[in-house]
Amino acid sequence: MDICTDYIDSSSDTSDPYPDFSLRQEGEAVLPESLELKVRQRTSELQQANERLRESAERFRAIFEGAAIGIDIFDTCGNFIEINQKLCDILGYTWAELEGHSCLDFTHPDDIQITLDCFQAILTGEVSSYCFEKRFINKQGEIVWTNLTVSPLPNAAKKINHFIAVIEDITPRKQTEESLQTSERKLKAFLDNIPDIAWLKDKKQKYIAVNEAFATAFGIKPEDFVGKTDWEICPPYIAEKFWYDTLDVMVSGKRKSFETKLVDSDLNTMWFESIKNPIYDSQGELIGTAGIARNITERKRIEEELKRSQEQYKALFEILPIGVCVTDTQGNILEANLASKQILGLSKEDCSQWNHQARQLQLLDPKAKVMETSQFTCVRALTENKIIKDRETLIVQPHGKSTWVSISAAPIPLSDCGVVVTYVDITDRKKAEHIKDEFLAITSHELRTPLTSLRGALGLLATGQLGILNEQGKKLLNFALADTERLTRLVKDILDLQSLKFSKNAIEQSNCQIDTLLDRAITAILPLADEARVKLSVTRVTGNIWADRDRILQVLTNLLENAIKFSPAESTIRVTAQEEQDRILFKVKDRGKGIPSDKIESIFAPFEQVDASDSRAYGGTGLGLAICRNIVEQHQGHIWVESTLGIGSTFYFTLPLGNRKLGVETME
Ligand code: ADP
Repeated sequence: MDICTDYIDSSSDTSDPYPDFSLRQEGEAVLPESLELKVRQRTSELQQANERLRESAERFRAIFEGAAIGIDIFDTCGNFIEINQKLCDILGYTWAELEGHSCLDFTHPDDIQITLDCFQAILTGEVSSYCFEKRFINKQGEIVWTNLTVSPLPNAAKKINHFIAVIEDITPRKQTEESLQTSERKLKAFLDNIPDIAWLKDKKQKYIAVNEAFATAFGIKPEDFVGKTDWEICPPYIAEKFWYDTLDVMVSGKRKSFETKLVDSDLNTMWFESIKNPIYDSQGELIGTAGIARNITERKRIEEELKRSQEQYKALFEILPIGVCVTDTQGNILEANLASKQILGLSKEDCSQWNHQARQLQLLDPKAKVMETSQFTCVRALTENKIIKDRETLIVQPHGKSTWVSISAAPIPLSDCGVVVTYVDITDRKKAEHIKDEFLAITSHELRTPLTSLRGALGLLATGQLGILNEQGKKLLNFALADTERLTRLVKDILDLQSLKFSKNAIEQSNCQIDTLLDRAITAILPLADEARVKLSVTRVTGNIWADRDRILQVLTNLLENAIKFSPAESTIRVTAQEEQDRILFKVKDRGKGIPSDKIESIFAPFEQVDASDSRAYGGTGLGLAICRNIVEQHQGHIWVESTLGIGSTFYFTLPLGNRKLGVETME
């Protein structure tokens, strides 16, 4: 690479590096003796000066070429005159590639203006040199950050035709700075994104950074915390607590959480939960702590309330006179109150025994049949995922103690949580019922024979074969006959209900044709309907049900009798049978007086009537629907009524399908 010396002396002839010296040599021959010495002396001085100049130029070249930083000399338009190897390396080009180019060709577009400003400031004498950070674009198209110092190179006439620039590659430092700034920005964004209060402290417990939430909580700008300790921003009692908590974390080197109670200026109590972490440098030296804190006042309040309500619930749970158990989804007992422990014979202290003890129990249904596990109320509530209510069950403990209970179970309305089971001890009621049933059975049996002979005798009297009675006598005899009839029906119904409840063979199921059943019921009831001037309409399916023919006939006729009894003349009673999945739904719909909503359920209990006068007015016993419910339920069916007062009632009951072929037919 050649050195252009114009910037050293622009008036020199570049073809002869030592012009003064050659002129002197030409004049030597004509100089007088006295001058010769002077000339020789002067020539020697000039030779020495030239030697020094040459040495200086070589030193400059050595420095220029060997410099560890980039140096270039360029004209006032930025055109390269001279570039050292280091700058070539920085830019990634050879001198041959750079020669003829301007430094502006390799300047980052955003830094061209500042470069031109720099030239201008030096040329106008505003500054003697110009230093700034400038970006070049290297041969790979990458940004090279440099620290650039530009100085003028005036010629002998003090005119600035050239500049010299010293260029330090600061890209690594810039990258480090950039990544530091990026990570600081990320840290800030991260901190500010945390809804909780967050901070960083050095190991002297001075704040390095806090997030927006922290600043907002204290009403101070985030930057105003930097360099401060808690002693400068909190009351002493709080600062002391924070100080020792943080010290604890730094000394133990472990992440710890703390709860702090604060009282604000309005004397409101606030609770904060903080988690503090030690921070270490790459050498494992502790450099500070990071912390995060959350206002848990509301949580504390809820916890307190929960604790109080749990204690109330526990106290209530324990003193409840009915047994209550909570099971998991597998039916394992999780909680049991005192009453349930007594009923189920569970150990009072050791709950680990409960499931074993529960498995030892024997459960019997009201007909004294041992229940399958799948029939247990809690198992049904779990598998059917619905509330199962009031199932009368006899619980027999291994040592023989037995308790009649009414069991209800309800799935806990959170997924996979199990069930709550309640046990109401009905042993006394069952005993009373048993006594009542026995009494009814005995008296009914005892009444049946004398009633039969009484009815026979009264019937004979009524024929007149034993003498003619006067009108008064006939009237009394008719009353006696009617009452005897009613008493006989009552005795028959009581015995029927007893047999349905206690006889194991009360129901005998077989395949029955639905249409035949309906026909027989209609035929039996038709005279009564005609007498009451009520019409019957039947819609039926042809097919079979799996049922006890006579018992279902009994249900149908009882419902039809009631419908006729309570229907106005000329109204129509509609009877339908329709298929529903695996069952048949029967409906008996009338336009009668209807049933009040509070009686909708109770009329299915024995001796229950909407109105006590019904029995006198319509001659019923109040046992018909109780018998119907018993019959239907023994067929695994359901019976219920829907009714609107003054509009009419519809009685429904379902029965399981038999093996049948279905068809639909309507008959008036
Ligand atoms: P009863 O022998 O008294 O009819 P049930 O058990 O058959 O006994 O009926 C109980 C009561 O239910 C009746 O006394 C009556 O009050 C009411 N009831 C039954 N069916 C109807 C109906 N279709 N319309 C209005 N009330 C009815």
